[in-house]
Amino acid sequence: MSRFPSPWLRLLLALLVAVLLTVSVREWWPPQPPAPSTVPAHTPKVSQQVRTPYLDNWDQVPLQDMAGQAARFPGQVWLEGPTHRRLIALTFDDGPGEDTPALLDVLARHKARATFFWLGQNLAGRKALAQRALADGHTLGNHTWDHPDMVDTDEAYWWDEQLGRTQALYRDMLGLEPRLMRPPYGHISDAQIARLQQKGMQVILWSLDTQDWNRNRMLFGRHNIERGLQDFVHEEAIVLMHDAGGKRGKTVAAVDALIPWLRAGGYELVTVDQLLGIQPYRQAKP
Ligand SMILES: [Zn+2]
Repeated sequence: MSRFPSPWLRLLLALLVAVLLTVSVREWWPPQPPAPSTVPAHTPKVSQQVRTPYLDNWDQVPLQDMAGQAARFPGQVWLEGPTHRRLIALTFDDGPGEDTPALLDVLARHKARATFFWLGQNLAGRKALAQRALADGHTLGNHTWDHPDMVDTDEAYWWDEQLGRTQALYRDMLGLEPRLMRPPYGHISDAQIARLQQKGMQVILWSLDTQDWNRNRMLFGRHNIERGLQDFVHEEAIVLMHDAGGKRGKTVAAVDALIPWLRAGGYELVTVDQLLGIQPYRQAKP
């Protein structure tokens, strides 16, 4: 019996190494910066769309439903900015949490602004952190009190227990009331959108989901979050990420790598209100 593997086995091993190398290069090699735009910056978009694919079995709102609501409520429901300027708005949901200070550090180091849709129950007791986020130039929005799926709930619960309660906390803690809200799971009824319109609030969904919430995609850590953005980046994107609701160190690391990558492609990081040209806060009642 030979001490060496048979020629077939060696060939098989060589093939395996080649496949692993290919996969590694794909996953670890930094991709080229975004290609230059082919559309003039101020050309209006024909429609608003989620660019990232739908995932089965995650109870997501069908992407065409999100696009449909944006089309039915122009200027009130947003998936993305209305034209083709090289602007991008990173948004972070479910905080503030343990990883939020590290994320603020990264954003400050890059002199980049972002938008946070925070939960009232997580904001309570974190006044210094919230004041720091404001001082750093970030925009704060309302993501309900404790993240229920609210579509079939009544006004008393929907407003008094969830959105209104969070508005009151923002007002008492920081002296401002957000005008931007993001419904948990992106799930909101047309009637609720109309009620928010009466209250002077706008619904901010997203056009690009990095899926940093999806544990199945995290085998390659922050690289998959980066890829989640890089493969679908587009002008005036609103990007969904998270600063709480689980360990978010990989999200923080991905943001650290993504900001220089985006800037190399000519993108400027802005808050959602800057992107849309709208007011982020209502004048708080005295
Ligand atoms: Zn959320």
